Amino acid sequence: LLDQTKTPRFTTEQTQQFTRELYGIAATAEPLESYIDQNFLLRTEAGTCFVFKIANASEQQDLLDLQNQAMMHLHKNAPEITCPEILPSRNGNFTEAVTDAQGNTFQTRVLSYLPGKFLSEITPHSPDLLADFGKFLGKMDRAFTNFVHPAMQRYFDWDFHNALHMRKYTQHIKDSSLRRLAEYFYLQFESEVLPGFQQLPAQVIHNDANDYNVLSDGKRITGIIDFGDVIFTQRIAELSIACTYMMMGKTDPIAAAAAVVRAYHAVHPLQTAETDAIYFLVGARLAMSLSKSAAFKHQNPTNDYIAISEKMVMALIERLIEINPEYARRIFRNACHMPTPKTGRDSRSLLQSRREHIGKNLSISYRQPLRIVRGAMQYLFDNSGKTYLDCVNNVCHVGHCHPKVVRALHNQAARLNTNTRYLHENIVEYAERLTATLPDHLSVCFFVNSGSEANDLALRLARNFTGQKDCIVIDAAYHGNLSSIIELSPYKFNGPGGAGCPETTQVVAMPDLYRGAYRRDDPEAALKYAAHVKNAIDAIHARGRRVAAFFAESLLGCGGQIVLPAGYLQAAFQHVRNAGGLCISDEVQVGFGRVGSHWWGFETQNAVPDIVTMGKPIGNGHPVAAVVTTSEIADAFANGMEYFNTFGGNPVSCAVGMAVLDVIEQEALRENAMEVGRHLLAQLRELQKKHALIGDVRGMGLFIGVELVSDRETLTPAANEASEIVNHMKKRGILLSTDGPLHNVIKIKPPLVINKINANRIVNELDDILDEF
Ligand code: PMP
Repeated sequence: LLDQTKTPRFTTEQTQQFTRELYGIAATAEPLESYIDQNFLLRTEAGTCFVFKIANASEQQDLLDLQNQAMMHLHKNAPEITCPEILPSRNGNFTEAVTDAQGNTFQTRVLSYLPGKFLSEITPHSPDLLADFGKFLGKMDRAFTNFVHPAMQRYFDWDFHNALHMRKYTQHIKDSSLRRLAEYFYLQFESEVLPGFQQLPAQVIHNDANDYNVLSDGKRITGIIDFGDVIFTQRIAELSIACTYMMMGKTDPIAAAAAVVRAYHAVHPLQTAETDAIYFLVGARLAMSLSKSAAFKHQNPTNDYIAISEKMVMALIERLIEINPEYARRIFRNACHMPTPKTGRDSRSLLQSRREHIGKNLSISYRQPLRIVRGAMQYLFDNSGKTYLDCVNNVCHVGHCHPKVVRALHNQAARLNTNTRYLHENIVEYAERLTATLPDHLSVCFFVNSGSEANDLALRLARNFTGQKDCIVIDAAYHGNLSSIIELSPYKFNGPGGAGCPETTQVVAMPDLYRGAYRRDDPEAALKYAAHVKNAIDAIHARGRRVAAFFAESLLGCGGQIVLPAGYLQAAFQHVRNAGGLCISDEVQVGFGRVGSHWWGFETQNAVPDIVTMGKPIGNGHPVAAVVTTSEIADAFANGMEYFNTFGGNPVSCAVGMAVLDVIEQEALRENAMEVGRHLLAQLRELQKKHALIGDVRGMGLFIGVELVSDRETLTPAANEASEIVNHMKKRGILLSTDGPLHNVIKIKPPLVINKINANRIVNELDDILDEF
């Protein structure tokens, strides 16, 4: 790294003296923009221009020689590649030393001045110009294949080989969504490119063909300057860096890059593996650029030199994350006349085999099944190159493949994964952190592997504590797939193939203010619904038994994204407690900040449960789940029979769980859920005014339901329309699903990283589709 304290600071007068005395050039000097060295434009009386460069005092002489030799090599071997000529001094040297008052020595050079505009100043970049750029780079690199220099294999920050060294600077990226993207692209580079990078063809390249270093007359590329980044490395870096800058500000960035790639390949043919790396190298370059400028700003809060192109970098990285890498790969391969990539087995045979070897009661979403091959934050990518905005995946809570979570998992898996009978920090620390988000009395954790298991254990805890068996559940609820929990899930036991309600389960009406017995016009609705819980308790008493537990989701998921009326849970819990039962909040769907205003759904009800069950979002897709309860209930359960769970609470799961908590906090995702959720709800309510089909819009944070009815008076459920709309939305690249006992509620519960632009898109597409109904 060049030392900023060794930046030359000569005056124009001193400069003019140097050029006169050392190079015999009498000219006026005008400073050019630069930050760790000094550059001047020299203009002689006759009007001839030169560039005078004073290198940073920490610059190595052999690297200046590398640059000089590289340019000279091009002059000799590729005269069509215009680059600066190096002018010898009066003594016949290509560099001359000067000294400042502090005694620092600086190397100076005089280069010929290349006229023309920078490529950055030309808009738009026509396809022909992009192609000429690709051809230019191809020719340059072709000429460099036989160039060697003793200093070419140097350590250099901007060499992709060292990309991960810059990763640590992401901590200085202030905007958390950009930081996430930078980290994501580092991770992709690390897993998709780095393992095979060394095997790709290497040679000397310019390594910084950005649009401020390339000259053009508008039609053609007329020259390239600034050989300060020249290095021996994988040659695909050249094209990838150039593509990065050519993608900026374009409506179709991949098409722009493909124009450059196509022309490059025609003169300097690429290998398939190189072409396939371009997308990820572009991502890595953007990540490097963001982290480097963040680090620089961190050190120099007042210097904004790097900030000039930063906005373009930000815009492109936000754009790139939406581009299916598979799509980019196809387009780039196509540009090089390479075969289309095959992504595994063909879908028909896969479906066939799935039918044979996987239980048939596992359904596949959508009429035309999706073949999702990758995920990135709020986006999912299919094998055909299409991108989907994922609006249903509340499991990948902090975003698909979130880099922090992936790395936490990887790092711990590489170190240790065992059962929990050894003393290990992770399980204890995680329990501390998890309980810190809960009311004080909920202080003991049990770690399990699924929401179902969590509810099963909650049931055991409750039955053990109360000595009773009977439970109360809300109609249409789903609490899990275990035998014990199917018995607590009206969604299942009253659904197809279900065995009906067990004798020990009481079902109470959903407190649905839209379609239930008591509606929004009834100020007593919450208490009236809660009274049903009292009735259920009475029914249990009538059988000569008492209640063990009341299971309730804090917002109803399978029930159709229902927000409980204010006061409902509190009143219902009171009835249960009066009867000696325990109150269990199933937070498997809605916990971990999804509701925005709070960490936990029950907090929005001012209700305090005895047991909380957690799952889905807890591990961002990794199978973790938890039960948290009071020490009293937990102690009563420790009755001599051990509770051991082979996988539950293992060091990897806990590392993942902690990473999820970190991300929610560090990226303020709860706040994002609140803000984007509020915006989305408001927009959807506007849609409701316009489209009669929308009967109800409800939700909290990023847990939203849109209930469709064909008649707003009779509330006739519009289930077919809901399913049609979901399929139409899928065609438009937005994934949603339907739920509710009448199958007429469109569910919106995206990863919490979704933004307002995404939200607007959901609303606009819905609006468009609803026009047809
Ligand atoms: N509780 C609720 C509220 C759920 O939605 C689910 C899953 N849909 C479960 C429990 C069961 O979780 P899992 O599928 O992880 O067993």
